[in-house]
Amino acid sequence: TELSLIRNFSIIAHIDHGKSTLADRLIQQTGGLTAREMTSQVLDNMEIEKERGITIKAQTVRLDYTAKDGITYQLNLMDTPGHVDFAYEVSRSLAACEGALLVVDAAQGVEAQTLANVYQSIEHDHEIVPVINKIDLPAAEVDKVKAEIEEIIGLPADNAVLTSAKSGIGIDEVLEAVVTRIPPPKGDRSAPLKAMLVDSWYDPYLGVVILIRVIDGVIKKGQEIQFMAAGTKHLVDRVGCMRPKLEILTEIAAGEVGIITAQIKEVAQTRVGDTITDAKRPAAEPLPGFKEVQPVVFCGLFPTDAADFEKLRESISKLRLNDASFSFETESSAALGFGFRCGFLGLLHLEIIQERLTREFDLDLITTAPSVVYKLELSRSKTDDARSMELHNPADMPDVNRIDEIQEPWIEATIYCPDEYLGSILKLCQDRRGVQKQLTYVGGRAQLVYELPLNEVVFDFYDRLKSISRGYASFDYHQIGHRAGDLVKMSILVNGDPVDALSMIVHRGTAEARGRGMCERLKDLIPRHLFKIPIQAAIGGKVIARETIAAMRKDVTAKCYGGDISRKKKLLEKQKKGKARMREYGNVSIPQEAFIAALRMG
Ligand code: GDP
Ligand code: MG
Repeated sequence: TELSLIRNFSIIAHIDHGKSTLADRLIQQTGGLTAREMTSQVLDNMEIEKERGITIKAQTVRLDYTAKDGITYQLNLMDTPGHVDFAYEVSRSLAACEGALLVVDAAQGVEAQTLANVYQSIEHDHEIVPVINKIDLPAAEVDKVKAEIEEIIGLPADNAVLTSAKSGIGIDEVLEAVVTRIPPPKGDRSAPLKAMLVDSWYDPYLGVVILIRVIDGVIKKGQEIQFMAAGTKHLVDRVGCMRPKLEILTEIAAGEVGIITAQIKEVAQTRVGDTITDAKRPAAEPLPGFKEVQPVVFCGLFPTDAADFEKLRESISKLRLNDASFSFETESSAALGFGFRCGFLGLLHLEIIQERLTREFDLDLITTAPSVVYKLELSRSKTDDARSMELHNPADMPDVNRIDEIQEPWIEATIYCPDEYLGSILKLCQDRRGVQKQLTYVGGRAQLVYELPLNEVVFDFYDRLKSISRGYASFDYHQIGHRAGDLVKMSILVNGDPVDALSMIVHRGTAEARGRGMCERLKDLIPRHLFKIPIQAAIGGKVIARETIAAMRKDVTAKCYGGDISRKKKLLEKQKKGKARMREYGNVSIPQEAFIAALRMG
């Protein structure tokens, strides 16, 4: 297709502002979908994505749209992942486009996640078309939202397109705006092939499918290609595009977006942001912006039933086929037996993988305390020459006498919230050792910039923020490097035995509060036994917090006075079931839920 007839664009929006609904409408309007197929959202296709309302893997779709000028254009709509954990993937999707639709909920207004993506979009020199969606809502305030877009983002909004994606209002106007306002791509069809690897996923029939944006040159079936960062060569066996069903094409040329397959078995062989070139006539330079993705949060996953270890390995390997951004290696723990140490892009990513293992593969798992990656400066010991190490697991912490310094990763967070919640949000950031960098007011809302230790954020910061602001605060972050901190390893002892799955690295200043919280929660989570159970938090040999679980009376049904047999039965059944999901520690049983629940900070 001629460059002047192509438009590549993405939709950026805060979660729930209507991105998926609008995307589906655009597909429907241009004939890609029937009304019946519209009933379920097409671009968010994974079950968990649907439930949580976030896109994890970017999808893309090609639309043919005949505009008011009578000319038919090729529109490539790139979907972008919708969560802070996947910021790099978002940046590659945006790099593949010339413009973006900025969807803002007419009743909610501009949110922090929107802002972060808009700034990225502006950095890519995008033409941004504001779309004010949900104008059908009684609470819609179009003029206020227009003013916000102008004040907060600095984009003119008088020509914003007004839509109701739900009732199908303004969809043609959106398509016209894409054609008339977003510029066509540039590129040279006759230059050596240069294409960006935007995303990849595993398809059981096709193998690894790669989404590409061709910058220069042409890619065809039978061509030998080279991945410049990975250094590998492959033979293209299919080129096509999604409409949203796969359509086979003869070529994808400069300016176009499409998919290829090249008999690749694992997604791990394809790196998002890599440059694809012709093996025989390679491009001189790769495209800018490639980054190796690095997991930032690590935890151990252990089967509750030791016999499930091989099943867990198979399931993890299967998931990894489709998600190269998480890592795993075997780990053994004195208490938990054999399992895997896994690395994730963030806590949400961790939860998604854990949920899929539980749900799709029917596994009962114990998740150990998530940990960020610490950098340790060490003195030599008699047996070990190493002067530094990266610590992914508190259980691997070397002897404290060898540690000269512990450094922890920090982030810069941007929080955006209505005024009334500012006080409690400031307190939350302060409690998490935050350093305030900026506090500004824009359009009746506060914009906060804080530097925070990642360790204080990964557990439950986002949830806490949402709950104290009743969902109105939004949050975005990026890493800013490691900094030295007064950090110590805190162990949890149950009945005098350390439970390694619960040990964690904490800041000395917050250790006592964290330790007390852990002990209190464990006291509620661990059932009574026939004997008294002390629960202690300790740093080195020093106990900093302590709770005791009183001994149980022998008969659980004793408290059901009288003759309600069915109630007694139920209670006994419940007790039996509870037992199946327990982990024995010495002679103490700890329920599986305790491991995760204990980590939620109070
Ligand atoms: P996304 O998270 O940005 O992809 O948002 P979705 O497209 O999943 O929409 C979030 C919710 O808003 C869903 O319940 C939609 O049905 C609803 N929604 C989307 N567009 C509109 C609209 O124009 N009007 C109304 N009233 N609701 C909408
Ligand atoms: Mg969505």
